[in-house]
Amino acid sequence: MFSQVVQDKMNQQIMHEMYSAYMYLSMSAQCESDNLPGFAKWLRMQATEEMEHAMKFYDFIHERGGKVILYAIDQPPSEFGKPAEIFEQVYAHEQKVTGLINGIYEIALKENDYPSQIFLHWFIEEQVEEENNSSQILDTLKMIGDSANGLFMLDRQLGKRSED
Ligand code: MG
Repeated sequence: MFSQVVQDKMNQQIMHEMYSAYMYLSMSAQCESDNLPGFAKWLRMQATEEMEHAMKFYDFIHERGGKVILYAIDQPPSEFGKPAEIFEQVYAHEQKVTGLINGIYEIALKENDYPSQIFLHWFIEEQVEEENNSSQILDTLKMIGDSANGLFMLDRQLGKRSED
């Protein structure tokens, strides 16, 4: 039985994942303007990944015979500061998303909604990766400090991100 509470939370999660996509795309746009093409590419790919996350919930709700509801997506900021500040915000945002996913999982446990629990395992693992990736880039940026050389090198490295 598809728990109604779980379904409601998953519909909200579609919106949260879409907001993540919107925010990362806005960060990407800023990097594009700031002549950081590698950062722009990495963040743009991240935005695409977030839309895929939203669609996983979308498909799962349908598979369970539920009803998808698309909520309004907030406007993201258009300025995020320096690269280190951008990645502080990415990391903080992913920690927040982890909390949201864990919250849905806790409800699925209480509701004895086993298929939803199994479905959410993928997201729980994915969040470990998302937090790890963003905190690693943030650590590198902290190490680089104000070095233009270091930033140039990291930008090139991030530009090599390819579809997983
Ligand atoms: Mg996500």
